[in-house]
Amino acid sequence: MTIDHLRRNFLQKLVASAAVVPMLSSTNAFAQSDRPGTTDGRQGATLRVALMGLGSYAERVAEAMQSSKRARLTGLISGTPSKLQEWGTKFGVAEKHRYNYENFDRIKDDPDIDAVYIITPNTLHRDQAIRVARAGKHVICEKPMAVNAREGQDMVDACSEAGVKLLVGYRMHFEPKTLEVIRMRKAGDFGSIRFFQGLCGFRIGDPGQWRLDKALAGGGAMMDIGIYAINGARYMVGEEPVWVTAQETKTDPVKFKQGVDETIQFQLGFPSGAVASCLSTYQMNHLDRFFMTGEKGFAELLPATGYGPIEGRTHKGELTQPHVMHQTLQMDEMAGILLDGNTPVVPVDGAEGLKDLKIIDAIYAACATGRRQELRLG
Ligand code: NDP
Repeated sequence: MTIDHLRRNFLQKLVASAAVVPMLSSTNAFAQSDRPGTTDGRQGATLRVALMGLGSYAERVAEAMQSSKRARLTGLISGTPSKLQEWGTKFGVAEKHRYNYENFDRIKDDPDIDAVYIITPNTLHRDQAIRVARAGKHVICEKPMAVNAREGQDMVDACSEAGVKLLVGYRMHFEPKTLEVIRMRKAGDFGSIRFFQGLCGFRIGDPGQWRLDKALAGGGAMMDIGIYAINGARYMVGEEPVWVTAQETKTDPVKFKQGVDETIQFQLGFPSGAVASCLSTYQMNHLDRFFMTGEKGFAELLPATGYGPIEGRTHKGELTQPHVMHQTLQMDEMAGILLDGNTPVVPVDGAEGLKDLKIIDAIYAACATGRRQELRLG
């Protein structure tokens, strides 16, 4: 069973009981965006979003946006004409707002699109994001933002030059139990953090899928699922790592070809002296756990990054924050960031995506050389 299956099962059980929580963004750091969206009776201005790449995760996002208070699906970009037709009909997106990969630069003249959410295979993100930015639209890009830091920097630069914002689809940054652990850590409830463990993986199926093709995936499990442990280590510990060591093992070199990592264990060191020990794999199931311990207490999230519900406990007891459909909450919060200038508790911008890519580059370098890599994340 793949992680997608597990997540789908979770979701089916939970969607009926999903509760709505209040907006989680902490502050309103800057003035109203120059691209304010429209007001259509939902809460505040509405972010009008075009989805690019109509695959399985885009479908989840499209469905989630149906119950979003602040984001609405207004455009579609796809290489498959039949999907444009089907999705257009299903989600009420008129033909004039449907594009393909050749002509989507024309969105610059589409006043009903504020942002494009890129949900295509990883190696396509860079060029697509740059084109969206040059069309004057905000970019929301799925993780990994790109496949290395150099490409990520190109995206950050292009968005900055075009005067648009770049966000990464880090849905866990809005998840209530995750945010409660972060709140407790900031309040000093765990004392000084000493150790984090992040276990992220699943046994991948179909050997023909793009996730196992370096040309489209840019790597293997690390790009897809290991990135949750990297990102999680950073938001749970609350520091930026200063070094990384890593070791790769491959049990199936036929399925996991050159450049497609199957299993990597890696360790991160933080300025305070805290350390993290993480596992990224495409070859084992039942791996979705974060554990953190400090001088005064601990936190465990299990599961930690699936579609939910996230479950967790600390030395003070069970975490009881309500489950909310992650993608609905994410789109509501991203509308607040893009339209109102809200600052999320945990960043979701291009600089945040770039830090994870720098760590991924360093992990691959550590695997290749066997040597510890120093990190300067700024
Ligand atoms: P899918 O394979 O289900 O969909 C990808 C879509 O991209 C395709 O359906 C296709 O849509 C489009 N596409 C364009 N070019 C290609 C190509 N050369 N090969 C294959 N597809 C292409 O992938 P996912 O939706 O699972 O993943 C897409 C992205 O979303 C990845 O970056 C992944 O890491 C991320 N993701 C994030 C998750 C999260 O929880 N945040 C969960 C799952 C994925 P079309 O036919 O319309 O062009």
